[in-house]
Amino acid sequence: MIHRPLKKPLRMICVLLCIAAVCAFAGAGCGSTAGDETQVESVDKLLEKGIRPNEMGMVMILEYHQVLEKESDYTRSIENFKKDLETLYDKGYRLVRFHDLVTGKASVPAGTTPVVFSFDDSTESQFRYIKEGEKTILDTECALGIMEAFYKKHSDFGYKALFNYLPQLFDQPKYKKKKVDYLEENGFELGNHTINHPSLGRLSDEEVQEEIALPVKNMKEISPEVKVDVLCLPHGSVPKNQELMYEGSYDGIKYKNNWSLLVGSNPMYPVYHYKNPGKLLPRIQAMDYDPEDGSGASGSGYWLRFFDRNPELRYISDGNAETVCAPSYMKTRLLPDQLPSGMQFVGY
Ligand SMILES: [Zn+2]
Repeated sequence: MIHRPLKKPLRMICVLLCIAAVCAFAGAGCGSTAGDETQVESVDKLLEKGIRPNEMGMVMILEYHQVLEKESDYTRSIENFKKDLETLYDKGYRLVRFHDLVTGKASVPAGTTPVVFSFDDSTESQFRYIKEGEKTILDTECALGIMEAFYKKHSDFGYKALFNYLPQLFDQPKYKKKKVDYLEENGFELGNHTINHPSLGRLSDEEVQEEIALPVKNMKEISPEVKVDVLCLPHGSVPKNQELMYEGSYDGIKYKNNWSLLVGSNPMYPVYHYKNPGKLLPRIQAMDYDPEDGSGASGSGYWLRFFDRNPELRYISDGNAETVCAPSYMKTRLLPDQLPSGMQFVGY
């Protein structure tokens, strides 16, 4: 069916009618549903319960590399990775898809905070298949296996992540396609992490485009359905010609990225906040923070502690996917043209 866009005044009337309908429904206390099974409650109800929504607050994209037995630089120990899941869950963080977060469409229950997991370098420690008799199963001690087990216990935490891939694609060549298919079927996302993992800032324009174009071609050969529109910068190094991160071509292969990912090291404001980072997004490395000696500052341990101490800066959902809800004075910080279509600001 083809929908023709409605003319402006007509569209406005429809929007108003929809709002009226939603308000009437919520007012009647039936707990309307906004397209999914999540209950939507009025802001007054949430405030009564002690939930102060702030969808103008900051969010985090966490960054992992290896997940192995021993903790070290660029390796999270299995034990600490399991702890991360527990800690995030207990503190009210919920996994969302990268694309939903960066387009302002992340939807999590009232009182919780969206968070994105990103894994770099596509190592086997992140996604490993093992044999159990005749069967091939997901290893319960790789990152994905640990996440799946946690999700079985706490389905409301979510089972999502962005995997920034290198050509080895999780190191088990015979399962390459099977793994990509699994990720695709289960709603995971894939990001381009180049071919040789160089610092792009040191390369010529042509070399930069080669590094970014070839992974796109490689992924098309494995699975033409996978859409890759995010570039994860090796070592966080930005090329001299920044436009080449987003658009370019090499040997007839064209690419287009909507976002680039840095290596560190802070949270960010949503896309509709005037302080949003644009297309070049910061991330936060998963690591512990020791306030005594300051080690791990700017990592996830530091920032989780920061949000515990500064709760008013943290994004808190109102559980309604149709609104951006926050204290009224924050409306001046809103970029209305960056709001996803159909979304409204609701102040209190
Ligand atoms: Zn890397």
